[in-house]
Formats: sequence, C-alpha cells, structure tokens
Amino acid sequence: MTLTICDVGPRDGLQNEAKTLEPRVRAELCDRLAVAGLKRMEAASFVHPKLVPQMAGAEQVMAALRRKPGTVYAGLVLNEKGYERAVEAGVDEVHYAFAATDEFGRRNQNATTAEGLKTALALVARARSDRVPVTVTVSVAFGCPFEGPVPPERVLKIVEHLMNVPPDEVCLADTIGVGVPVQVRELVRGARAFGATIGAHFHNTRNTGYANALAALEEGVVSLDASVGGAGGCPFAPNATGNIATEDLVYLLRGMGVETGIDLDALIATSRWLGTQLGKDLPGMLARAGDYPARAASKL
Ligand code: ZN
Repeated sequence: MTLTICDVGPRDGLQNEAKTLEPRVRAELCDRLAVAGLKRMEAASFVHPKLVPQMAGAEQVMAALRRKPGTVYAGLVLNEKGYERAVEAGVDEVHYAFAATDEFGRRNQNATTAEGLKTALALVARARSDRVPVTVTVSVAFGCPFEGPVPPERVLKIVEHLMNVPPDEVCLADTIGVGVPVQVRELVRGARAFGATIGAHFHNTRNTGYANALAALEEGVVSLDASVGGAGGCPFAPNATGNIATEDLVYLLRGMGVETGIDLDALIATSRWLGTQLGKDLPGMLARAGDYPARAASKL
C-alpha cells in the first residue's frame, strides 16, 4: 500500500490557535516537516487576512521556505482571488475547499454549496490550463455544526458533479470530527465509484479520527491529511481538537507495514518544537509516550 500524508499543520493546525505565529516561524515549521520526510504539506492559506489573522502573510511564508526537492508545498484557497494569490506565490499545488452544507459555506466563505461547486469547476479548469495540480476538498462531509448530519447521498452527488471537470484528487473532510468508520467506508467507496481519486481529512474531536483514517485507508484513499502534534480546532466547534496527529498516524501506519518515508524521531521533535512555539501541550500522544521500540538508547 502506498499512501501520501499531507501535513496540514502549518494551515489547519495553526489557523485556529489562539497564538499567531510569524510567517518565518510557519516557514520553519514547513522546513522541519520536510526534513522529517513529509512529502506534502499545506504550507499556507490564501484566505483574506481579516477573516483568519493567523494565516496573514501567506506570501511571506512561501518566500521564506527552504524548499526540499520532491516535497509538495500546497496552498489552501477558498475563491478565485485566493487561487491567483497562491499561484503567484509559487505553490506546487492548489487545495480548494467548499462546504457540503449551505450554512457552513455561508459562514466559512460566503458561498452556498451550489456556488462553491461552481467555483470548484471553474478553478479546476483554470488550474488545468495553468498546469497546476489541484485537490478539491468537500468540507463538513460527515456532519455540519449548523445543519446537523449530512446525508451521504448529498456528498456523493457533489462528488459526481465534481467529476464533470475532475480534479486530481477529491478530499472528503470531517471538519468538526463527528464521523465514524461506517460512514467513511460508505463515502469513500461511493466517491471512488465515480472514478475519483480520494483523500480524506479527519479531525479527532470525538476520538474517532484514527479509526476513520484506517477505514479510509482500507477503502483505497491515496492521501490522508494530518497535522503535526494534532494542533488546531474549529472556530465553529467549541472545544474541538485539531486534526489527527501526524506522528500518531505514522506510528499506526508503520506498524501495519504502510511505508510513508517519514522519520518518526524527527517528527516527534517537530511536534515538541511546535508545542513550545505555541506555548501549550499539543494533543498528539506519541510525543508524550515516545516511539516504541525506542531508538533513543543509542543516543544516550
Ligand atoms: Zn480541517
């Protein structure tokens, strides 16, 4: 099995933290992740800085990166303007997200699902002609904080529409961490039936994130999002934790024989470094418990 892990820590992880990190520190986080062996990451978000002040200075983050050859530095965009900024700033890949429910879409990016879908199709066509790889993420695909449970048929209908102008990847996102594995299986299987290449994005708000990631893997996703340390939350879900922690996911995958090329010791060190930068303990467990079996003995 081959699987790419996309570390969304520099974006999803940091955009909901109380403490805002300077662009140069966010770039350093990306550099550390690349050194630890992450092949793909969301390095920056090209949303309006008034809406998400933690993400201000996306261009500065991109400019400060010490790019590692072979590593993909993606940028999140929510509209055409963001797309233009991201391409101008030199992202390797564009990640466009829109919501599976109208209310979440209105609050998050002032666009209903239908409007978000229209933009998706336009952006994918544009990215094709610009020769920029593009992933489209369907947010709140497993449940919405405003509209409640989201019927799988609704999400699958969205994926079917997306396949009219197929993106390189469709990512199904459990933005508020409410999904369970049977839901994951149904959605991933259904989406793949339309010929889509599928990735998945789980928050661990209700501790189902890792079980969901495993279910997604078994259903054939090619990519899983995770954030180092499990940093982050959701502005619409009080007490929400962040994404599943990259190092905890890598530990699980390595034990199952899924090779990711990621150096766990370096990733744990990055998780601890990020905790220091944010001035808090991050939710990831491996950075507390340590790897097993420990490799540290030789360094003592
Ligand atoms: Zn997220």
